[in-house]
Amino acid sequence: MKFSDIPGQNELKERLRKTVLDNRVSHAQLFLGPEGCGKLPMALAYAQYINCTDRTHDDSCGICHSCVKYAKLAHPDLHFIYPVATTKEITKDPVSKLFIQHWRSLALKSGGYFSLKDWYQKIGLENKQGIINTDDCNEIVRTLSYKSYESEYKVMIIWMIEKLYHAAAPKLLKILEEPPDKTLFLLISEQSDLILPTILSRTQLVKFLPLPDRVITDTLTAGGECTREEANRIMYMSNGNLIAARRMLETGESDLSDFELFRTWMRACYRKDASASEEIYNLCP
Ligand SMILES: [Zn+2]
Repeated sequence: MKFSDIPGQNELKERLRKTVLDNRVSHAQLFLGPEGCGKLPMALAYAQYINCTDRTHDDSCGICHSCVKYAKLAHPDLHFIYPVATTKEITKDPVSKLFIQHWRSLALKSGGYFSLKDWYQKIGLENKQGIINTDDCNEIVRTLSYKSYESEYKVMIIWMIEKLYHAAAPKLLKILEEPPDKTLFLLISEQSDLILPTILSRTQLVKFLPLPDRVITDTLTAGGECTREEANRIMYMSNGNLIAARRMLETGESDLSDFELFRTWMRACYRKDASASEEIYNLCP
């Protein structure tokens, strides 16, 4: 994943690039923001940029040995932890590495834009909730205790840190506080109120905002499969969430409940700017 593959978020890209160019990469960062704003793609692009052997100011090269492995999410120094639980396939002791093929497949197919619900569907969790469990926290410590294989930095991406099982937290806290040299933790979250304060205090916050309207419409129309009118209609209902917008384009159905649709419509009615009347029209069924 390169920065140029990610729609919008240009200020954040520049801020992250600058941390690398100024040689002040913080060892534990929390990418926090609502669903569909590009947190996971940005974490992947940032990690790829850090480890690229031929980067420019703007981006990783995409062709060096490291970039090629990063593009397949198969670099030996890139590690992932995410919420899991037992499934029909994994009937006991579920840990992230047992689901890595599903993770790579979903992340590569979606470009990193997928929701927790998409993930649970992918691994067949049905109505269960996944957690980041104690075994996975032990795995983090074990993995990071080895020297890196090829890169300067070992990167540990922990997706949806709010799903961390609280009893497992002390292990993670300890390694966040005293990380092995050249280790980068990129924690991703959508709900800061569910994250343990002790985790929050040990990470540097990188806050993401929902995508602007123009970025949503430009992204939807880029492939040529969606008209500008259709993209506008979806954009008004997506609330800056590219995952929801793409789903609506694919299925033709809105993610919003009738109440949310009504609320969005009412807000548009009360706005006085020029785009409000267009939005009111577009939101009408
Ligand atoms: Zn490269």
